[in-house]
Amino acid sequence: MAELIDGKSVAEDVVRRVKALTAELAEKGGRQPGLAVVIVGEDPASQVYVASKSRTAKECGFHSVQHTLPAETSEPDLLKIIGQLNADPAINGILVQLPLPRHIDSGKIIQTIAPEKDVDGFHFINVGKLGTGELDTAFVPCTPAGSMLLIERVRGKDLSGLNAVVVGRSNIVGKPMANLLLAANCTVTIAHSRTRDLPALASTADILVAAVGRPEMVRGDWVKPGATVIDVGINRIAAPEKGEGKTRLVGDVAFAEAAKAAGAITPVPGGVGPMTIAMLMANTLASAYLAAGLKRPSF
Ligand code: NAP
Repeated sequence: MAELIDGKSVAEDVVRRVKALTAELAEKGGRQPGLAVVIVGEDPASQVYVASKSRTAKECGFHSVQHTLPAETSEPDLLKIIGQLNADPAINGILVQLPLPRHIDSGKIIQTIAPEKDVDGFHFINVGKLGTGELDTAFVPCTPAGSMLLIERVRGKDLSGLNAVVVGRSNIVGKPMANLLLAANCTVTIAHSRTRDLPALASTADILVAAVGRPEMVRGDWVKPGATVIDVGINRIAAPEKGEGKTRLVGDVAFAEAAKAAGAITPVPGGVGPMTIAMLMANTLASAYLAAGLKRPSF
């Protein structure tokens, strides 16, 4: 059976380290890191994420600000708030919870966030830095950054020559994940819905990342023996065995089958999921260190 990659425990390590480095920053005369989370509308899932981000920020010792705006907030009003946060020296990280209501252009909002406060890593400047390997100053999207940390726990930092297959090419997960693996010297293939013979391609992977959004799509016989399997997917499916109307979370990988072949694998839940918020804290801390003229801490 594969080694289980415990994302919950790695995420706790990251948060502990962020907390310690926040205290160290104060000793060095730096400002308390500040994170502003902006949410527009009342989507219950988004409310839960935002509350959890704000809670973890406080746990890290950050100055934490939350702007909860009504669904009918206009685009100019939201742009104005982003402008104020950009100009506020007490704020190092700005996170706008997506999705935004349809009448607001998300792209325009994201590109208005100052790149040095774009702790989600979605601004073109940060996307470009990641693409060109400027990793010392880039903010990398939190989910792939967290997935990378999990891979490094198993394989070390230098992944030279390993074959990596990333299934999914979204801007939030698949593409930045592929760029991180490339920067770590993997030979990277990005697969997507038009890829031919995905099972054969996946079975060449020493590192297989699934970021698709299709429950248990990656089967056990797609996994190369000994491979590191990172399951980014979070899918809620019916679980009649738990009772009528009950559901459970599964990943994009058929866990029980894949765990028989893999060398190491992330579970769902408890794998990649907890890493996202932890890396948001790490990015905000990095922004505060850079703002203080200090080298950003590595994780
Ligand atoms: P997305 O934007 O919907 O992208 C899905 C990707 O999968 C697309 O590139 C799509 O290909 C590809 N795809 C779809 N069907 C496929 C198939 N049959 N074979 C091969 N590729 C296929 O999704 P996302 O935002 O990247 O998220 C992916 C998953 O990760 C979701 O389950 C999401 O909930 C989860 N997620 C988790 C976290 C977290 O853990 N914190 C964060 C973000 C996302 P095309 O480009 O060709 O359409």
